[in-house]
Amino acid sequence: MSGVNTGSRGAISAEDLSMSETREVMLDIQGLEVHFETRRGIARAVNDVDLQLYKGERFGLVGESGSGKTTMILALLRMIKTPGFIAGGRAVFDDGTDLLRLSPEEVRENRLRRVAMVPQGAMNSLNPVMRIGQQITLTMREHGEEGTKVEFQDRVAQLLDQVGLKPEVAQLYPHELSGGMKQRACIAQAISLSPRLILADEPTSALDVVVQRQIMQTLRQLQLQLDATVLLVGHDMGLMAQFAERVGIMYGGKLVEVGAVADVFRNPQHPYTQLLISSIPSFERRGTFKGIPGVGLSLLDSPTGCLFHPRCPQAMERCSRDEPGLTQLGPGQHVSCLLYEKDESHATSA
Ligand code: SF4
Repeated sequence: MSGVNTGSRGAISAEDLSMSETREVMLDIQGLEVHFETRRGIARAVNDVDLQLYKGERFGLVGESGSGKTTMILALLRMIKTPGFIAGGRAVFDDGTDLLRLSPEEVRENRLRRVAMVPQGAMNSLNPVMRIGQQITLTMREHGEEGTKVEFQDRVAQLLDQVGLKPEVAQLYPHELSGGMKQRACIAQAISLSPRLILADEPTSALDVVVQRQIMQTLRQLQLQLDATVLLVGHDMGLMAQFAERVGIMYGGKLVEVGAVADVFRNPQHPYTQLLISSIPSFERRGTFKGIPGVGLSLLDSPTGCLFHPRCPQAMERCSRDEPGLTQLGPGQHVSCLLYEKDESHATSA
């Protein structure tokens, strides 16, 4: 697990302060490690991640592809497939249940009731030869719900209404729905057993911007109705800024910065976050677009020290040698970068 240093830099917003003082932790992730065994060695896809999710919050997890964000939510769902495996850590709910230590039977019982996922591609998640109503009913039955046919029909109609679809959609097949409607049907399925944690993996990636916005509004309304926590994974910083209250930035399987969305966007601390934000096209930054230098990290050939050092414009001599821990800049605001840690390698004892 990463050490946590307490630094003095970084503005502490009122929003951040009130968030950390009043919100209860719902899921405490500590030292999460997901590895993939390959012929060339072990790839650490999720590398010693610590993260606390609050009850009823919208948290955005951002990073380039291959940064480990999707692997992290698959680990929470216990859906990592061989040659991948959860190599360490814990993910403990507020009632003491550790998601990473559940038996296969318990995993099945917990899915949808405690944790549910809204998938990336609705097209691939829905059964093409089954009507939408049947699919949602089957999902509920498979997870232990009991009731009469009429009770299930009523429940399906209610779920469809919650996601902004008419009850008649229950009678349709997936190919009869638009992309946005399919994604709404997937959300209805995901919330069918009122989960406490909704994991959403780029849920609007294949949709046009207007539909994207509508789906995100629906997700936000549902999150409030259910008082659920949403962990949204994606690489669209604009969408994150609109949806999330806090964000975490991942690079090379590590969480490199966490904070209130306003703080991270207005005042990013980690050099990688700074580059990510400056790469968002904006009217104010016309003509000053900056990409991120270098090539993405190979998990099989990771550099020593800070994983970002070969691409970092602020790298120091010690960055290729020392691995940064997580430095707390203020309540709820953390960064993993040696710029915020005191260099003690040259210190002499008194
Ligand atoms: Fe850059 Fe060094 Fe900070 Fe890594 S530790 S992000 S290389 S300054």
